[in-house]
Amino acid sequence: MTEPSQAGDAAGGPADCLFCRIARGQIPAKRVHEDEDLIAFHDIHPAAPIHVLITPKRHIESLITALPGDQALLGKMLLLAPRLARELGASDGFRVVVNNGPGGGQEVFHLHCHVLGGPRPWRQMSTGR
Ligand code: AMP
Ligand code: ZN
Repeated sequence: MTEPSQAGDAAGGPADCLFCRIARGQIPAKRVHEDEDLIAFHDIHPAAPIHVLITPKRHIESLITALPGDQALLGKMLLLAPRLARELGASDGFRVVVNNGPGGGQEVFHLHCHVLGGPRPWRQMSTGR
């Protein structure tokens, strides 16, 4: 089995990484889910009626730096999306967006899935976010 990109949890992440700091509880967030690998919380600037972020606790910069050993973690992130969307009331579907790298509109360089729901979320969420 290929090793994941980085062992450990948020404790090993960069001190100045916003989402590592949220995972460590150093910055408040409106959490909707936590398990041993992932946390999910409401986006501070929602682009749709339902807008949460799913992020691994351990620091992975983006899909660009994810490794084959991260496969199970990435699958777990995606499988959490429909569960949270349903729990938050997106009864007829939702959207998942992952921005990667500056050219992909990524602003926080700790991997995360945007889960967007509500009426026509793509109208509010245009190119960059
Ligand atoms: P991205 O452009 O894909 O890197 O998205 C980063 C997202 O993080 C944006 O949608 C921001 O609104 C969101 N964000 C930034 N700071 C916080 C925070 N402290 N709590 C929750 N969401 C945040
Ligand atoms: Zn981080």
